[in-house]
Amino acid sequence: MRKAPNALLRAAAGWRADRIADPVERLRFLRHTLGDRCVWDPRSDVGRAFFRSRRTTMVLALGALLLIPAGTVTSASRLWKRGPIVTVQANESGPETFPNVWLVETTSGFETYSNGLRIERRYEIANEPRKYPIFRRGDEDAGPVEERTAPSGIVFHTTESNQVEFAEDKTRTIRRVGAQLLEFLQREHAYHYMVDRFGNVWRVVRESDSANHAGYSIWADNKFTYVNVNRAFLGISVETITQPGEAKAQATPAQIHALRVLTEMLRAKYKISTADCATHAQVSVNPDNMQVGYHYDWASNFPYLAVGLPDNYAVPAPGLWLFGFTYDPSLVQVTGQAFWRGLLLGEDQLRQNATAHGLDVAAYRKELEKRYRQVLSRMKTKTELSKENKG
Ligand SMILES: [Zn+2]
Repeated sequence: MRKAPNALLRAAAGWRADRIADPVERLRFLRHTLGDRCVWDPRSDVGRAFFRSRRTTMVLALGALLLIPAGTVTSASRLWKRGPIVTVQANESGPETFPNVWLVETTSGFETYSNGLRIERRYEIANEPRKYPIFRRGDEDAGPVEERTAPSGIVFHTTESNQVEFAEDKTRTIRRVGAQLLEFLQREHAYHYMVDRFGNVWRVVRESDSANHAGYSIWADNKFTYVNVNRAFLGISVETITQPGEAKAQATPAQIHALRVLTEMLRAKYKISTADCATHAQVSVNPDNMQVGYHYDWASNFPYLAVGLPDNYAVPAPGLWLFGFTYDPSLVQVTGQAFWRGLLLGEDQLRQNATAHGLDVAAYRKELEKRYRQVLSRMKTKTELSKENKG
């Protein structure tokens, strides 16, 4: 167990941290000064110093965290034998509703839908039919509980491809670059959909098949855990580049509208929960060094609300608390604060679960890593993952 830093150091660090305007810079300062001994605890003085000035959404997310009374952990630990106990999952309020969207017209060249969505089919190709195992969350080492053929979620990507200036006199070049990109994505069987810079939605890999978009990855909702989600989740990529640390989405209004109607249609068709819509940065892991954030497209600026989804950056990072992944502190330099929210909450969840097991975090993490290795050995992914797309 890590010891709390002494009160004087904590007070001094808190005073200094209060004077650092940028939350990510503040976090870096606190981690440097105090290590991770108390920064992760939002109830500590220093934790409060870090969290105080964050936006309302952050306050709400942590409010949910604080609502877990100590007694919940204690009583759950008596019942719990294998997996983690409590969790803070955003968006848990009430039964979920799904949009009502239907197919209006289909031809060999396009599809249109009742919410105005139009899908271009010129680049559509087949790949391997989708079939994948899912695990009961917290009980993953017991093996899969189900095999599914329908997609369970959506991963949002950016293409990280060349960006020509978005101006009228560049229209021909923008179209040519977009077409070249689509040809490349088709060859790679990457993504199910690409949204070009004018907001056109192109189907690349058929929805019924897997696409090479997410590689080594982890996500979980309130019931199930999904590992290596090329099969389990649909991949939608936006033709843009993620800039390090930026706060605003690098997407045109047309792209954001397209993402919204496309997401609505897919959620309606497959009854995909909003809890199962995440960005590549949030799901990506690297088993070689057991760190999250191997890919960091949409690490901080995915326009969740504008796309009609809740802010899933407030979900504790599943890789951290379900399987004991860590992260490289330098990640803070290439991601924004939204992404860090999930890491903070994931760390806190991990610590609570470790305490409930009577283990220190390091020992508990080892147990979780063992569990992850077991799950990984059940997934036949080597070939598939070697073809993983960059963005
Ligand atoms: Zn990606």
